[in-house]
Amino acid sequence: MSARPSVVVVGGGISGLAAAWELSGGTRGPSDATPRIEVVDVADRVGGALRTATFDDRVVDQGADGFLARRPEAVTFVRDLGWDDQLEAIDASGAWIYLRGHLDAIPTSLVLGVPTTATSLSTLRGLGRRARWSLWRDRHLPRPCVVGDDATIGEIIRAKLGDEVALQLVEPMIGGIQAGRIDDLSAAAVFPALLTAARAGGSLQKALSASGPVSPGPASARSDGPTFFTLRQGVGSLPGEVERQLRARGVIFTLATPVTALRRSPTSFYEWEVDTATTTTPANSVVVATPPKITGRLLGQHDPALAAIGTIDAASAAMVTFAVPANDVHLPAEGTGVLVPLGTPYGDDTLMITALTFLDRKWPHLRHDGRVLVRVHVGRSDDQRAQAMDDDALVTRVRAELAVLLGRWPQAGETMVVRWNEGLPQYRPGHLERVERAREAASSLGLFLAGNAYDGVGIPASIGSGRRAGRDALAALTF
Ligand SMILES: Cc1cc2nc3c(=O)[nH]c(=O)nc-3n(C[C@H](O)[C@H](O)[C@H](O)COP(=O)(O)OP(=O)(O)OC[C@H]3O[C@@H](n4cnc5c(N)ncnc54)[C@H](O)[C@@H]3O)c2cc1C
Repeated sequence: MSARPSVVVVGGGISGLAAAWELSGGTRGPSDATPRIEVVDVADRVGGALRTATFDDRVVDQGADGFLARRPEAVTFVRDLGWDDQLEAIDASGAWIYLRGHLDAIPTSLVLGVPTTATSLSTLRGLGRRARWSLWRDRHLPRPCVVGDDATIGEIIRAKLGDEVALQLVEPMIGGIQAGRIDDLSAAAVFPALLTAARAGGSLQKALSASGPVSPGPASARSDGPTFFTLRQGVGSLPGEVERQLRARGVIFTLATPVTALRRSPTSFYEWEVDTATTTTPANSVVVATPPKITGRLLGQHDPALAAIGTIDAASAAMVTFAVPANDVHLPAEGTGVLVPLGTPYGDDTLMITALTFLDRKWPHLRHDGRVLVRVHVGRSDDQRAQAMDDDALVTRVRAELAVLLGRWPQAGETMVVRWNEGLPQYRPGHLERVERAREAASSLGLFLAGNAYDGVGIPASIGSGRRAGRDALAALTF
């Protein structure tokens, strides 16, 4: 009798779990050909960056709180799990931007911060005159901008629309999603529609207007339904459900156990040995779904293209969530939150807050009589002030900044501080090429890469990369 093939999934975040789902048969379920599958994670629970906590008598996400519908991978995965009834559509629309002391309504016609119509600027009272002039000029006398295979988003926006538009509109929108700077981020990887529009050579606004709604990342598609979804028990409930179903399929989970090395196996049947402090597991294929720095450390010795994954740096961020009596705060009448441009003055300093989210407006399951949930986001690739503060100092600072942004903010109320160290990979120019080379090198070795360092930083892209890695790993098992 021949030995049973074995696949190890290193990392049990949502991408690793999605890979294990495909390895165990995907929507069809396991069969006689299903390999032995083991998911190993250093943490004592699966889910990585997705988790919930009970806060103010509600189950609140501590990381991501929703996912884009336009990139279909997350919604499809939830449906494939038979969890359709858990999907909850966003229940609010619109948002605000804090421009020069005003909260201005963000026009719906912006495409990731770029206005697409002249009228879209009417609500933006705080937008500077130079920004308005640059936008007018782009519509009537577009400036040239030569881009090759890739450029930073900042290079394109600054050349075509000027520094003010970059700082006041595009940076808060894209930089906020990625926790990075548009002057560092690859247009090809993060905002491909922008690169296409720049290549077209005319007005950037007109070209983007023609491209329709876009979401960050390559696989954006049009959709008429809700723009965002969450799950009724929080997005952080998803990993636990996937784990439950995978265990029922016979997948083995080894938790609280870091993988320390991946070595070529001396035996002929198994090509790999996966080491932890106490065990060595033979494997025919390995799906590596760890953060990029760890992936580089585990795989770098096997190929320089894999070592290069370890150089993808990631930004740290923190989120402070408040539960406060609705009567004690003065929130805008509608909308899901507020964006705050980088460098907004705050005394001799600048505001640390990059965005506010009105959580219980977005998600019906979080609604409560009397108290609202407001989440504050701080931290970017080049702003690590929050890292140097303890939780009390951070909460004090953020409360004071909220009073500036919203007019007043109470000292009382429950707070929850969550820090995500190096949680958001930064896609620099050349990212797509680096990923392609790494994937090629990996698959030639029987290794498969998954996670938010490759095809997009959000949950849909992470799930998509995991399912792809799982399918590829399965296809590579030719016995
Ligand atoms: C603050 C924040 C807010 C976000 N908000 C949103 C949002 O609203 N919408 C959205 O779509 N996305 C959001 N994201 C992004 C989204 O959460 C992530 O892209 C996604 O969860 C990443 O999943 P992953 O499996 O790729 O990585 P991770 O969740 O990081 O999983 C990696 C796993 O590898 C494990 N690991 C590490 N080292 C080892 C080792 N040596 N051995 C074994 N295991 C190891 C870790 O413990 C972890 O479980 C947010 C991210 C952050 C940080």
